[in-house]
Amino acid sequence: MNYYDQHLHTYLSFDSTETFENYLDKGLEIFVSTDHFDLKNPYTNFNDDVPDYEEYTKKLAELSTKYETKLLKGIEIGVVPGQEAAIMDFLSQREYDVKIMSIHQNGKFDYMDPIVKTKPKLEVAKEYFEQMAQVLDSFPEGNILAHFDYGLRQLELSPKELEENFEPILTEIFKKAIDRQMGFELNAKSFVKYNNAELYRYAVPLYISLGGELFTLGSDAHVAEDYRLGFSEMADLLRANQVKELVVFQGKDKFMTELPTA
Ligand SMILES: [Zn+2]
Ligand SMILES: [Zn+2]
Repeated sequence: MNYYDQHLHTYLSFDSTETFENYLDKGLEIFVSTDHFDLKNPYTNFNDDVPDYEEYTKKLAELSTKYETKLLKGIEIGVVPGQEAAIMDFLSQREYDVKIMSIHQNGKFDYMDPIVKTKPKLEVAKEYFEQMAQVLDSFPEGNILAHFDYGLRQLELSPKELEENFEPILTEIFKKAIDRQMGFELNAKSFVKYNNAELYRYAVPLYISLGGELFTLGSDAHVAEDYRLGFSEMADLLRANQVKELVVFQGKDKFMTELPTA
């Protein structure tokens, strides 16, 4: 099995209009979409953004008659402290192969909202990491820790500032992710579009030094053209850190696959 993109969006997300067909027409061996689940989402005026599971199931059944591709189910779950029970209730009635855990917002604002730019950056980053550490204790689901730097995308924090101010809490976060056997995601939106590659160059060796072995690559595509975005650069970073494999999640199983060369 070759590695496949484990983070991408379709029209079942509030912020994408992409079709499944545009991804599948690339002729993929395995495909998994991971549409957004975000309750009381500040991005959409505090709407509950929930990917329609029935529609998802129906769509995949229809696609399976037209494509050879093995179709898996995924979801990207944004978690805010206090929402754990409601999210668990949703998940308990539905099956997914891969569940991405993300911190996107704090109940008041999304970390990508313009208002973040007006706040002291170290305070925002501190709140963001504390929320992540808390959720790793309070919310038991999730195979992949997505974009560890999402809350930093607007802050223009240097790797040096990250190290000087946040190494203790990052260490705590990474240890929790490692204990939970989650995959650490290299996220192409962060890495390529928000120029945070240097933060990953700092974080990946830290994660490895704590015993971390499970990595994933995610394009975080919202359009099919971005499928596997940044994979060769992100794989190069891992290779430079002696990482040779990536993890994929399929229901209760996980498999190691070779690090892609392109
Ligand atoms: Zn996300
Ligand atoms: Zn995403």
